[in-house]
Amino acid sequence: MSSLVLAAPSGTGKTTLARRLVDGSEEYVFSISATTRDPREGERNGIDYHFVDQPSFAAMVERGELAEWAEVHGQLYGTPRQGLEAAAARGEHVVLDIDVQGARRLRQTLPSTKLIFILPPSIEILISRLIRRGTERPEEVARRLESALQELQAAQEFDYVVVNDDVDGCLETIRGIANGAVKAMGPEAVVRDIKAFRREILRILDEEYAEYVNMIR
Ligand code: ADP
Ligand code: 5GP
Repeated sequence: MSSLVLAAPSGTGKTTLARRLVDGSEEYVFSISATTRDPREGERNGIDYHFVDQPSFAAMVERGELAEWAEVHGQLYGTPRQGLEAAAARGEHVVLDIDVQGARRLRQTLPSTKLIFILPPSIEILISRLIRRGTERPEEVARRLESALQELQAAQEFDYVVVNDDVDGCLETIRGIANGAVKAMGPEAVVRDIKAFRREILRILDEEYAEYVNMIR
């Protein structure tokens, strides 16, 4: 069994891939984090997150119940050890959606953790996915692209870099990583792509952004 941390710039398809891995599967489970942030509409306690208040979160840290924890956007998030241990006991792979700080810490606590960074096929496709998903206004898309600049830098620290071109192909690679069939797919091979992606984002953010959005709609 493996613990798989999936990370990606927003809009790449991380949520889609994680759901496809876990839904209806007996082999893959999702790690349900604890957080101090309020639930969003439609989120359920114990399914999307364990929603807890600050003192309860502090008590979990104190008792050593979290395999890692971090502050993200002013709220606390952490991975319950118990979920990881229960999955290991059942021989299941665990999929984690945690930030880069958490990924670094988890690797120290649990060295067998596999860090998988997912890249979009191109920045143009990333933007069109963000727009088609329909959850972001154009200004928000620009803000997400700005965050992607930092996120892409972090890809260098990951063990595996996978391009989400076709969902099924990408899932097959991730399953191969989980069961050890796929070995070397480190960031070395895509360092040039990552640099080119960052340059492309800077160029797009620099130019008339609204025009670009209209062009690809
Ligand atoms: P993330 O969780 O990384 O922000 P999502 O999983 O929400 O991204 O995906 C962003 C959008 O792109 C969604 O509308 C999703 O259906 C679409 N998408 C994801 N993967 C692919 C793919 N391989 N090909 C085409 N569209 C995709
Ligand atoms: P959101 O509030 O949008 O669900 O998540 C915000 C951020 O917190 C995302 O980057 C997500 O990956 C990260 N996150 C969620 N759970 C955890 C966790 O248990 N640990 C850490 N370190 N980050 C988390």
